[in-house]
Amino acid sequence: MNGIPIIETKRVAVKLRPSAEKKIKQGHPWVFSDSIVKQNIEANAGDLAIIYDAKKNKFLACGLYDPYSPIRIKLIQFLKPAQIDEQWFAGKIKEAYSQRVSLLQTDTNSYRLIFGENDHLPGFIADVYDNVLVIKLYSHIWLPYLHTMLPVLIETSVCKTVVLRLSRQLQTSGKTYDLKDGQVLYGELEDEVIIFREHGVLFSANVIKGHKTGYFLDHRHNRKRVGELANGKTVLDVFSYAGGFSVHALKNGAKSVTSLDISAPALEVAVKNAKLNSFKGKHEIMVADAFDGLQSLIDENIRFDIVVIDPPSFAKRESEIGKALKSYMKLAQLGCQLVANKGILVLASCSSRVVAEEFFKVSEEEIYSSGRDFDILEKTEHDIDHPIGFAEGAYLKCGYYKLY
Ligand code: SAH
Repeated sequence: MNGIPIIETKRVAVKLRPSAEKKIKQGHPWVFSDSIVKQNIEANAGDLAIIYDAKKNKFLACGLYDPYSPIRIKLIQFLKPAQIDEQWFAGKIKEAYSQRVSLLQTDTNSYRLIFGENDHLPGFIADVYDNVLVIKLYSHIWLPYLHTMLPVLIETSVCKTVVLRLSRQLQTSGKTYDLKDGQVLYGELEDEVIIFREHGVLFSANVIKGHKTGYFLDHRHNRKRVGELANGKTVLDVFSYAGGFSVHALKNGAKSVTSLDISAPALEVAVKNAKLNSFKGKHEIMVADAFDGLQSLIDENIRFDIVVIDPPSFAKRESEIGKALKSYMKLAQLGCQLVANKGILVLASCSSRVVAEEFFKVSEEEIYSSGRDFDILEKTEHDIDHPIGFAEGAYLKCGYYKLY
């Protein structure tokens, strides 16, 4: 293992406001700084915060202290005290792995092994691409535990290489004990582009420079579904990034696929990803802002059998929800006009602040006001390697609509 710091941690005793205690009893993993009423000593990132019931002084939960975030304590253990040691981490990591086994029995060697809070490890992500494990940290709290967790992660995933990615906040904090974004923590990384399989379809991810850990694994099920629908069809993949939906469609016999994204480099990767597979259909790319690009396709009177619209998150803050909903409405409205008779519109949202109900409601209202009859074919959430452990963990939603 290369350059993993040994960081001492200590214990800090904490008491909270009644409203925060109530949330903990329901299993919510976040304690905000303003709910702390008592704390016995000052704490550093990753110190173990033990929360005691304010009235009965009994153990409520424990978590890791984060002085750099308004979510001051990220909880990892509820109601029953436990020793947070190698064995505890091994239990959590193995439990997470066992939930993913059925996915690994398919022709897939890329998956999210650890999904933060939803696997009881808040702000800790571990994605596997073939035999490379990519850890992405969103909080300093994990730095003292890396040396304990890494051997278990390697043993469980049977990966040969481990790469560390750091969120922007960590990268700019100057408090990462010389750990760097993109650092290889274990083994060797011969090529930063890793080729992997997703339900028999080949893809590549740049684990050093790509978004997040290099690729978006959460939509795997939806990509497979679009692939199954695509044989002999014309497909428009809007916000295509590295061509997730496009490549599944091509590999499954789509007549033609147009990948649209504002990023030319992302589309270059989409073209390369498609070429990793054998296919006969035509693959076209369109570098454009989605809203303008969709309008220009409408103006040219072009129609597609399948239109997939999977934008980036539009609402990172509460205050952006209204604007995000307007964008989703506009995309649904534009998308409708591009779907051929009996074609399928696939609408997705990854904004955690926009709840599924609201997203589907506004999308369906737009389709309804287009005047076209439609059937709701299916509504999906995350794939099984993205379990939902608490309300905020449920960010992905996707609706399939057949339009007449
Ligand atoms: N559908 C993809 C993931 C989409 S990620 C998959 O299955 O993997 C979001 C993508 O939206 C990024 O590639 C980003 O470049 C693109 N994007 C962001 N704003 C855009 C805009 N206004 N118009 C078109 N693409 C945009």
